[in-house]
Amino acid sequence: AATGATTAAANADELLGGLIAPGMDRRSCRSRYDSWRYYKHFPYAPSPHLLRRLRAYEDRHRRCAPGTPLYAKAVDQLRSGRSAADLECNYVVWLPFDGLGNRMLSMVSGFLYALLTDRVFLAALPPDSDDLFCEPFPGATWRLPADDFLHVAKLFGVGQRPDRSYWSLVDKKEIAVPDDPAANATAAPPVPPAYVYLSLGWLLTDRIFFCGEHQVAIKKVNWLLQYSDLYYAPSLYAVAEFQDELRRLFPAKESVAHLLARYLLHPSNSVWAIVTSYYRSNLAPAGRQIGVQIRMYGHSSIPADDMYKQILACSRQERILPAAAESGGGGDGGNKNGTTTATAILIASLYADYYKRLRSRYAARGGAVGVFQPTHEERQATESLAHNRKALAEIYLLSFSDELLTSGLSTFGYVAASLAGVRPAILLTAFDHKVPATPCRRAVSMEPCNLTPPRDVECRGKAVDKEDLARHVRVCEDWEHGVKFF
Ligand code: GDP
Repeated sequence: AATGATTAAANADELLGGLIAPGMDRRSCRSRYDSWRYYKHFPYAPSPHLLRRLRAYEDRHRRCAPGTPLYAKAVDQLRSGRSAADLECNYVVWLPFDGLGNRMLSMVSGFLYALLTDRVFLAALPPDSDDLFCEPFPGATWRLPADDFLHVAKLFGVGQRPDRSYWSLVDKKEIAVPDDPAANATAAPPVPPAYVYLSLGWLLTDRIFFCGEHQVAIKKVNWLLQYSDLYYAPSLYAVAEFQDELRRLFPAKESVAHLLARYLLHPSNSVWAIVTSYYRSNLAPAGRQIGVQIRMYGHSSIPADDMYKQILACSRQERILPAAAESGGGGDGGNKNGTTTATAILIASLYADYYKRLRSRYAARGGAVGVFQPTHEERQATESLAHNRKALAEIYLLSFSDELLTSGLSTFGYVAASLAGVRPAILLTAFDHKVPATPCRRAVSMEPCNLTPPRDVECRGKAVDKEDLARHVRVCEDWEHGVKFF
């Protein structure tokens, strides 16, 4: 009986409080049931409502996935050009756009949207992402078969301003929006097209997507093709139709990306092998792990000396890195017993510079503080699977940290913090190449920033509870035009 109880407790942990479905094949995806051993934090248990909705989603996904009769029916409908009102399975197809962090965030957003609207989430994974993630759902694939994608892709150009984006179809009156004052009341409403392309990238061509009345119209479309590089979940909370359900799914708004990313995204075995072998050889011996993610953008570059000073000033302000010398007061947050407890500092960056500086800073402390950097790729190469594997491995290595120092505006850092369950210290961006007066800010939540929320849209739908919205969605620490859950 004792063994049974221990096993049950261990299972409860590896399933993250029921977040992850039990009984999936362990060998084909080692990370799924293994990652809980590495994370230092799991601050939010999933709500019973979220668990119910996830299990119901998995059933729906199994019924509607590629290979099923219902999927074949939906593809026939797609080919017919028009949406059917009585189709049992409706889809959101995720399309790749931008770097890996952006992609992970738009996947999480699209999956949340599928949960909220009873759709099935499929991913059109390009070759550069072919072997990065495990299948997330039990007993069915999440991959859109290449043939079906090509059929769709041939019909319209993929990009930020496609002809068949949602707003242009509304504009051409191919889709009826309820209570449209400009609509001809006597004419029969058009049958909606079989698919609609949602241009939800940083240009946010389809910003009207975030209006309740358009959600009512979009509901009638069988296939949605989502082209986005954003974490748009906070903006869904501003849609009255979704507010109540989001509240029930996530009693703590700060847990949305944390729970959904841990549910949906599991590194493939090839990535997990990189993660675990690096972790075991370098990070595991330390009692404490600090992740430092340095992302530099051309539009806000500053000299490396200034950047290094900013990192150290941030660390002092937020008490992140240990003291450089055992007796020195130059840092905070170091262990009190000198060399007995080791701290591992993991650097993620495209460049080796800050790693080298930090390594020499801690050289005098011998084994007490280790500084590690798995790779320095020098340039972003999103079209390369091997490059993306390393990038994904580093996101997960960062997510095993006790503490995080990340870079402003970087989705790479956002994902790491959400997965980690950590409110990072976020380095502020050097806009106009000016070193920011405040080196960094402590994040109010572990949530990613939606860097491009809808602006200048007038919605006609049901009014949202604005007070509640203000209590849970606010401006981002690192971007005054962005919004995030807290
Ligand atoms: P963002 O541009 O910082 O928002 O993050 P993205 O992940 O969307 O795009 C940046 C891309 O550059 C990553 O996906 C990687 O391909 C690469 N990259 C940026 N920083 C790092 C890093 O620290 N390590 C590795 N391996 N790759 C990085």
